[in-house]
Amino acid sequence: MKLPCALTILDRSLSSHGKKSNKPVNSTIAICKHPKADKHCLIVFNAKNANGTKYDVNGNIQKLHTKFLNEGKVTIQFKHPPHDIYIQATVILLKSFLSILHGVITGTSKTKDSRVLSLSVNVTAKFVAPTKLVIKSRSEYPFKGFPPTLENLTIEGIRRCGLDLGILRLTKLKVLNISDNNISTIPEEFSLMKNLKVLDISKNHFHQSSSRDWRWLSGNLCDTLVSLNMASNKLKFLTVYIIKLRNLHSLDVSDNQLKEIPNGIGCLRKLKSLRVHSNFLDRLPGSIKCLRLVDLNVSNNRFESSDQESFVNQIPISKTILAASLKELAAQKVLELGFKYDASIIPATLVFYLDSDAKYCPCGKPCFNVYSYKCNNLNLSTISDAVITNPLGGLIIKTDCYFCSHKCARIYNVNRVPLVR
Ligand SMILES: [Zn+2]
Repeated sequence: MKLPCALTILDRSLSSHGKKSNKPVNSTIAICKHPKADKHCLIVFNAKNANGTKYDVNGNIQKLHTKFLNEGKVTIQFKHPPHDIYIQATVILLKSFLSILHGVITGTSKTKDSRVLSLSVNVTAKFVAPTKLVIKSRSEYPFKGFPPTLENLTIEGIRRCGLDLGILRLTKLKVLNISDNNISTIPEEFSLMKNLKVLDISKNHFHQSSSRDWRWLSGNLCDTLVSLNMASNKLKFLTVYIIKLRNLHSLDVSDNQLKEIPNGIGCLRKLKSLRVHSNFLDRLPGSIKCLRLVDLNVSNNRFESSDQESFVNQIPISKTILAASLKELAAQKVLELGFKYDASIIPATLVFYLDSDAKYCPCGKPCFNVYSYKCNNLNLSTISDAVITNPLGGLIIKTDCYFCSHKCARIYNVNRVPLVR
């Protein structure tokens, strides 16, 4: 194995006479095996010492100081020559290097000496190109960038203020956890991540994101993302981009300050787990009837306990339009068929119209100007196998229902709802 590092060599015999140690030099340390003997050595080489300095390993290491290993620093004291070598390297590489060195010293790799080199190569490959990286302190942050083969990356609790742009180059990344930091926005290019399935941005500062700052939650993520955790961000609104994540299985927006969730939440037909607890919600969108959840948590909100009969005699409020405009009909089809669109294809005003003006009927169909509205009661047990609600709140809550047609108004409502201009 070869370890790139910054190296300082202190000759103990000289330092005892008051000699100062050298400055760190960019070097490489390699663990090698004598071709004919049953011994190993470390070879240190750099630009000034291309041939390298050799240190025997077996029985020649006086002491190994690993107290600051988590900061990427290690000292090895050799008996002959009496040198202390101070190594500074990436923590993860340094750990793998010591792991191999330990195997050589203790002889745990001795039985397969002929394969030590290949063993080293294998282990090197594993650590140089790891698929998983967990960073929970600043000292563990890779100062030379992330290995491009990463599939699972956790950067948690280190008070980062922005997303490392190096993450955008991790084309194989499937799981990203950046929870418990101070991040408030993510660049729009993040939508180009090709394989991201699980994203945890909880416990950050995303309440500082404006509605335009959420455009990263589109593009490829619409197809790839299956789990999204946005909990504990003091969010006052939930971006409408969320309803485009058509393969989402799990959504957690708990512990925010949401007064409503997007009307089109029912578009997330694959959603199985929805957590909206600990917000300021007093009702849910009618389209939530489209969901078939496994678990739903709506506890600690502002839902009032509803009387099942309280809305039966309420007169629905209808938007007064005889027939839908061509614009509305076209927009309905674009949304129903799941066409991809953005401001590079159609005018930005149309993008806004499609994203922000659409109402969703309990049947799932979008409508814009032709609809009727009614506040209906919903028994949450009809949409989820398990429901967690306030102990006194009951299972029946209010929903904002926008009916796209007479037929839907009839199906989802007792009274006929007129659609007139
Ligand atoms: Zn409908």
